[in-house]
This record gives sequence, structure tokens and C-alpha cells, in this order.
Amino acid sequence: MPLLSSIAAAAQTKITFFGTQPLANTSWSFATLRVVHLPLLKAISEEALPRIAEFGTRELENLVWSFAKQRFRNLPLLHAIASPSRLTGGNARGLASTAWSFSTLTFVHNPFMDAIAAASIARITSFQGRDVANTVWSWAAMSLQHQPLFDAIASASLPRLEAFSGQSLSNLAWAVAVLHFDDPPLLQAISERVQKTSAVFSAADLANTAWAFASMSCLDPPLLTAISAAAIVKISDLDLYASVAILDVLTPETNSSVSDQATEVITKSFRCSLLRLVRRRVAAFVRELPTALGSSDLTSYPQCLVALRVASLGAVGTELLLNWMEVRKPPSAFSEHAEQFLSVAHTTETRRSQKGVGAASYVKWCVRRVPSCQGNVPQSEASLCEGELFRRNGLLLEEEHDGQRVLDLPGSLRAVRLTTTSPHTDRRLCSEIRLLEDVRIALNQASPDGMEELAGEVNLQISRPPCLSCACAIVQFRLLFPKIAFGVGF
Ligand SMILES: [Zn+2]
Repeated sequence: MPLLSSIAAAAQTKITFFGTQPLANTSWSFATLRVVHLPLLKAISEEALPRIAEFGTRELENLVWSFAKQRFRNLPLLHAIASPSRLTGGNARGLASTAWSFSTLTFVHNPFMDAIAAASIARITSFQGRDVANTVWSWAAMSLQHQPLFDAIASASLPRLEAFSGQSLSNLAWAVAVLHFDDPPLLQAISERVQKTSAVFSAADLANTAWAFASMSCLDPPLLTAISAAAIVKISDLDLYASVAILDVLTPETNSSVSDQATEVITKSFRCSLLRLVRRRVAAFVRELPTALGSSDLTSYPQCLVALRVASLGAVGTELLLNWMEVRKPPSAFSEHAEQFLSVAHTTETRRSQKGVGAASYVKWCVRRVPSCQGNVPQSEASLCEGELFRRNGLLLEEEHDGQRVLDLPGSLRAVRLTTTSPHTDRRLCSEIRLLEDVRIALNQASPDGMEELAGEVNLQISRPPCLSCACAIVQFRLLFPKIAFGVGF
């Protein structure tokens, strides 16, 4: 867009003459037009930072909202904005919008969020459906608990659900599920409202709602029928993110628990249609993946993953992907042992940390060199390399704190930052890719001149379905060691 580029260029040259309102408005306008101009955003943030105290509450709300819309994360500026005194005079819409912006930028600042919560409780009667939905969504997306805020929101929402849009209802249901917020009357009221209005819900909102209720085990037959009947006619509008999420909760067991035959027919056909849709999209991805991995162009592989616009393919989608790439489930004896190991580790860690813990993985391998056709491998090398390892997500080893991280080295498995869905999550810290990289290094050291000549077994168990970056790291490992029986369970 030449006009916007010219405006951005001109604005940068005159940025020091901008007042606080033009600074905020310029950023807001580009965000509203969905045009991301990084040099302009940098110039605006550099100019705003030393003058942050001069900004009015509304200007700050607009500024931080526009940065969130453009996924532009400037930590010094966010720190400067996150002062409770800057909330003075904010209304319900502004508070909800600021919470949403901080959450979207994954900038968790507990004192500031507490101050937003206190100000929101004081103004709760003026919260509209969208404000409620944005507020609870923000707390849920940051995994922050705040019981007084949720109680205030629940009692203010209950009598006013009729005024909530489909998107607000589905966001509210989603947040209630994610936060494990136990409020049966609110859930019942949301469910009744969804049943009455599901025909006007978008496909994504239907999927979101189904996921929320199913994950709380409250997807009862009337709600399930209403959602399935409304969603089945909009199925082509569902994106991959919604499709894999709903497919994971709409299991065959959900269908069999339905006693009424009409509901069973509707939900079964909905699930089959969804499965077809996901199968088609994952198959198209599988056709591109090995080519992208083998390409000498270093950008094509990350682009191939980022273009899917999901952080994970979920349990069903990942299973499809791995099956097509000939990664099987591990032997049941290994899975039972690994699951027991992971659950003991989880319990111990929960007891020690007094809070929830992230995902973890466990790997066991026993690999030997395949005798070549010349038969020149000595028998003593028959059992070449074996071991087992356990890792949690997000933990660096001592020696990795300084210097280069193992996964940055040439030849290592590649992690991909999933910029369209979770741009701030460092996928190099996932336990499964780190374990597979440990095994790759061990096997490489044991047989430096021929990794494709190794055979044996590598089995990996993950405490939940892997993210897309790790699912594809599993594929990379599969391609590196074609003769090894490689099993992955989750
Ligand atoms: Zn991962």
C-alpha cells in the first residue's frame, strides 16, 4: 500500500513533533487497517517511552491496544504502562481492552492485573457482554486466577446473558473452562442461551463453545444437538484451529454416551465431517512437509508450519500426521511404564511447587548399528547405545544458560516459532524436542559416520499432545533415522 507506506515514512521523520494523542492515533489507525509497519511502530514506541507520564488514560489504552493488534511487543514500554496509577479514569471498555492487550502480548504483570481487576469490580455494572468476554478471556489466556473478579463477573453476567453476542457467550464459556471456574448456574444459563441462539453463532464460536463444555464434561445432549446441528451447515467455515480443538473433545465416547438416537445421528455425522476436513488439511500439509524440510531455503520449513495457523494439531490431528509419517504408537509396556513415571514426577513436582506444572516427556532408546552388506561390523558393537531421559518444558540445563543453546547448532533438530498463533513462545524449550535432540546427539556420537545405518528402538512419551513445532521435530527425527522403530505416545 504505497499511500500508507508514504504516511509511515513521513510520520517517522516528524515523530519528535507528535503529541501524545497523534502518537496513539497513528498507531491505532495502522492497527485498525491491519497494516503492520515495524519501523513506524519502533519509532512510536521510542518516542512514547520517555513521555509515558504525559499520556491520558484513553491514549494509553489505544496505544497498547494497537500494539497488541499488531503483535508488537516492546517490553520497556509495557513495563512503563503497567502502573496502577495509569488506570485512573478508565471506563469498563478501556479496562477490558487493556487487559486483553496485555494478555495478547503475553506480558504478565501481576500487580497491574490486580489493579485492573479491582477497578473492573468497582465498575462491573457497566460491563457489556464484550467487556466481560474480553476480561475473562484475558485472565484465562494468562492462566491467572482472581476469584473476587470472577464472582463479580458471574453475578453481573447472569441476569444479562440475553444481551451477549455469540462471540461473547463462547468466550465466556471458554474462559470458565480454562480457569476451572466452578459456577453451575452460570454454565446452565450459558448453555440455555446457546441452545436458543446457536443458529446465529459463527462456526468458530460454536467450536469454541463445544470445546469449553466438553472439556468441563457438561456437553449434555440438548446442547450437543444444538451445536452440532448449527455447526454442520457451517463446517466449511471452520478453520483448522477450531476443527482440531472440537475433534479432540467430540470423541467417539461422547457419541456413545448420548442416549437419544436423533442426537447420536447428528453428532456422529458432525464428527465424521470434521474428521474428513482435518484429514484433508493434514494430508495437504504432509505432502509439503518433507520437501520443505529438505529444501536448502531456510525459510520454507518455518513458513510451511506457520501457514497452518495452529499451535498444535491436537491429539487426533497429530496422530494423523505421525501415522502418515510412519511414526507409530510405542509398545504398550513402554507406554504404561512411561505414563506411571510421568504421573509420579507430576505429583512430586505439584507437591513441591504448590501449583500446576507444565508438560513433560520421557524417552527410552536402545539402538545398534545395522550390519552392513560387507558384514564388517564387529559383534561387540551389537548393542551400541541405550539410555533413558526425562525432561520438563521450559527448563534449561545449567550449561545452556551461557552461550549458544543446543538447538541452535547446525545439524540439530529445528524448532519453529509459531508466529501466527503464539509468537512469544520459545519452542526450543519444549521437553520433547529437547529430549529428541539429546538422543540425536547420543546416537551421533555413538555412530558419527552413519546415522541412517542405525536400527533399534526409540520410544517417547509426552504428557500431552505435542505442539506443531515438536510434532514436526518428531518427523525430522523419523527422517534422520529411517531404520529405527520410533514410537511416540501422548
Ligand atoms: Zn513443543
